[in-house]
Amino acid sequence: MKYFKMLAGILMMMLYSCSGNAQKNDQMDNARNNNPYYSRTDTTHLNVSDAEWKKILPHDLYEVAREQGTERAFTGKYWDSETKGTYYCAVCGNKLFLSDAKFASSCGWPSFFEPVRKNSVLYKDDYSYGMHRIEVECARCNSHLGHIFDDGPPPTHKRFCMNSVSLDFEPGI
Ligand code: FE
Repeated sequence: MKYFKMLAGILMMMLYSCSGNAQKNDQMDNARNNNPYYSRTDTTHLNVSDAEWKKILPHDLYEVAREQGTERAFTGKYWDSETKGTYYCAVCGNKLFLSDAKFASSCGWPSFFEPVRKNSVLYKDDYSYGMHRIEVECARCNSHLGHIFDDGPPPTHKRFCMNSVSLDFEPGI
């Protein structure tokens, strides 16, 4: 009887944790489902106005992705994450980076030495704040992701310094 109670307790705990995960996944799916442009398979270029994105995207994502904002260093959810998986564009679902290209950077933002495909991102000159930087955009939806610098590790020596909020992470390879 004692063992039966223990077993039942463990089973309940497992069920509880499973339903918690299911709830989290549901919330994520709802966020994506409310975004008719989100797709991890469709690579067609999107031409969506900022006014429309504003209606679809959460405020913090809109501010970074469509208004070239920057989240505060050491505050994003992925800056120190070492979990294996794939990073997609949080706006449109375009595949952007693999965890294998992520490296521990002291800058406080998730940093990668290369994108998953050369054409998954675009580069633009950015002269804001009185300096010249290279802005990195998602090639599918033209959302702002972050900037690229020349102080990364081998083999590319590039540092794609990204905003966590612009990324959508899927664990596992
Ligand atoms: Fe995108």
